[in-house]
Amino acid sequence: MAQARTDIGPPLYKDMLPPVIKENYGKWRYHEILKPGVLVHVSESGAKLYTVRAGSPRLISIYFIREICDLADKYCDGYLRFTSRHNIEFLLTDESKIDALIEDLKAMGIPVGGTGNSITNIVHTQGWVHCHTPATDASGIVKAVMDELFEYFTTMKLPAKMRIALACCLNMCGAVHCSDIAILGIHRTVPRIDHENLHKLCEIPTLTASCPTAAIRPNPKLKSIDIKAERCMYCGNCYTMCPSVHIIDAKNDAVSIWVGGKISNSRIGPRFSRLAIPFLPNNPPRWPEVVDAVKKLVELWAANAQPGERMAEWIERISWEKFFELSGLPFTDKHIDDFTLAQTTFRSTTQFKW
Ligand code: SF4
Ligand code: SF4
Repeated sequence: MAQARTDIGPPLYKDMLPPVIKENYGKWRYHEILKPGVLVHVSESGAKLYTVRAGSPRLISIYFIREICDLADKYCDGYLRFTSRHNIEFLLTDESKIDALIEDLKAMGIPVGGTGNSITNIVHTQGWVHCHTPATDASGIVKAVMDELFEYFTTMKLPAKMRIALACCLNMCGAVHCSDIAILGIHRTVPRIDHENLHKLCEIPTLTASCPTAAIRPNPKLKSIDIKAERCMYCGNCYTMCPSVHIIDAKNDAVSIWVGGKISNSRIGPRFSRLAIPFLPNNPPRWPEVVDAVKKLVELWAANAQPGERMAEWIERISWEKFFELSGLPFTDKHIDDFTLAQTTFRSTTQFKW
């Protein structure tokens, strides 16, 4: 039966697979890292697929795309793919072409790496370029951080893999909830309500329902809403529903840093990232405070973790108390996860041993 065609969404991925993947679909036995940035996948039939992983600067021009497509035509029968971390993966079946491809990439200034015990490209959200609720930028901050961590992309000298993510608000359509180091843009003020225009632009029941903490109540007198400030967690969800509830605050929006998240089950189970630094200034165009903080955390972990130990595993071995001590980061009331109890206590866990 012919497949339905629509104009919504991307084309079916299976139509674009290289022949070697189509022929060995579901039959891949194992993969190995041959050297930084180069992988081989081996199938049950003995077929081999070589992958050369290259970094991209994320925001790229049509000229850049044409150049990498020319490389794919030259070395890979036209096949490449982008990963969710904005790496470009060239897919080859001829091993003898790998070194020439890497030389061409280097000549274009494109690094090869991001495999094994490295820092691969940072996954991030949309930032100031596209989304409406960001508390910080995404591509700009990530570029500044990755420029500083560049050597860890092209080598595999870290104790384990390091995954960094950025989300520009806490709705986090990125992966900050489960990354070794997460950079998270935060709003810190209650939305400002434009009472005059709200009823012309927004549906009040939808707006009220959009608040995860029930901080919003209708205000029939003004044909608007009120926000109970002490219940607000500055998530900006209401602004997503209604442009008359302004959350963006150039002066107070900031950046926080979280650590110790992972999604893999190896060694210890998956973990959510936890707050390490509640506030860093939003300082474009190069965010020096954020870059410095992330670099220090990477280097602290690299200097102290045992081989194979990811950030979460290292911290849990030495204890979170010791992590704060070693990193010199102050432990504040912002670190205590007791939002629902915030009005009655600053301490909801007996696990902390201060
Ligand atoms: Fe938009 Fe928030 Fe996603 Fe950033 S993290 S793109 S502000 S929803
Ligand atoms: Fe509710 Fe979030 Fe809006 Fe605050 S910012 S009122 S918590 S939806």
